[in-house]
Amino acid sequence: MNQFDVIIIGGGIVGATAACALGTAGLAVAVVEAREPVADTGVRDARVFAITRASERIFSALGVWDAISARDICAFREMRVWDAGGSGAIHFDCADIGEPFLGHIIEPRFIQTALLERLQTLADVQLFCPAQFSDIEIGENQVTVVLDDATVLMASLVVAADGARSPLREHLGIQVRVHDYRQSGLVALVKTEHGHQETAWQRFLPDGPLAFLPLSGGWSSIVWTLPSAEVERMLALDSEAFHAALGEAFDFRLGRITGSEQRKAFPLRRLHATHYISERAALIGDAAHTIHPLAGQGVNLGLLDAAALAEVLADAQARGKDAGSMPVLRRYERWRRGDNLLMMSAMDAFNLLFSNARPPLRWARNLGLSLMDAAGPAKDVLMRHAMGLEGDLPALARIPEEVSRSA
Ligand SMILES: Cc1cc2nc3c(=O)[nH]c(=O)nc-3n(C[C@H](O)[C@H](O)[C@H](O)COP(=O)(O)OP(=O)(O)OC[C@H]3O[C@@H](n4cnc5c(N)ncnc54)[C@H](O)[C@@H]3O)c2cc1C
Repeated sequence: MNQFDVIIIGGGIVGATAACALGTAGLAVAVVEAREPVADTGVRDARVFAITRASERIFSALGVWDAISARDICAFREMRVWDAGGSGAIHFDCADIGEPFLGHIIEPRFIQTALLERLQTLADVQLFCPAQFSDIEIGENQVTVVLDDATVLMASLVVAADGARSPLREHLGIQVRVHDYRQSGLVALVKTEHGHQETAWQRFLPDGPLAFLPLSGGWSSIVWTLPSAEVERMLALDSEAFHAALGEAFDFRLGRITGSEQRKAFPLRRLHATHYISERAALIGDAAHTIHPLAGQGVNLGLLDAAALAEVLADAQARGKDAGSMPVLRRYERWRRGDNLLMMSAMDAFNLLFSNARPPLRWARNLGLSLMDAAGPAKDVLMRHAMGLEGDLPALARIPEEVSRSA
């Protein structure tokens, strides 16, 4: 009875998106999620996602974007990045490339709820929640997953979408390369004296970047990268002292900080799995990679993994091939691992370059920023890549006309 094409361990945003994509393509999917969905209490989430246009297209194609965009989300049209150690600055404006916006700032709970509701309408998707695996056996032709209540599930493939600590990745013995940034991301909701102008702001400080992401009602969500010891100090400050320190770090670009809520911190680590696949198994999302949050790409990369894997598997199924076989899985790994590595390396290079106070480097990066700002076409290409409008995108992330042209 419990025979599926694919079993996904982890029903977070990436796992649920993969399940929607596979279920929509007609594959039978089991999703195993450890945590029961939390009731939406209306309390704002301090940690938000900058969702790219590519991710928005994936959600649209899967029929969840209308439900997400009906919630309290905020489009941003401009992005301003500048260096605290000089005069270098770059300004991105969606109007320069004829787009209505650069992306949206969205609380994770809005996405998670919409995906969960959509999953429940798909006849070929079954959710096992709350549940965890107690054993997994990889056979020659199929995978057997035993849940903690002794339910037995079988499929040709098991997918790890169970986050950065991924118990499944560990069970499979897939190694990871980890780099501890010795930094934490301090997040909070803040009110500023002046409005955010539907702009995402980022100031590069010697200790790391400080981002202000626009939300509705004049609020912003901040991500402040700090050395771990300094984060502890910031978390311990009273509101008044915290507002003063934050305002100064942001050079009072939006005036004084007039209020804040939900200060908390996350340790930052880069993690990359040495392989995204093994016999009858594949990794997606944070189970495969975690990245510095400075360009807000983490979940966006995971969504591209989910869409690419679903495309590869649906294609194999349509051609009568075994979707869990190594040649099929290698196509997924080749597609996504290089792209993710490129983005991770670019973010690390940025982080290193901007945290360096040595005068020649400071001078060079300020010059580089100003030159890039003045270089119209090169800047447009950079902007289009960051928005997910270009690159080797899965069909779900492309505009429908492009997909039919390449078919
Ligand atoms: C400070 C900070 C700011 C960030 N900002 C951004 C941003 O602006 N934009 C962006 O794109 N990304 C951002 N990220 C990254 C983003 O948070 C992650 O990339 C994203 O949440 C990963 O989603 P996931 O579904 O892969 O993993 P997770 O969200 O970790 O989901 C994993 C799921 O698996 C379940 N699970 C775990 N173990 C088991 C098990 N044994 N059995 C069953 N289920 C299991 C968990 O309950 C969970 O639901 C940020 C990260 C940090 C730290």
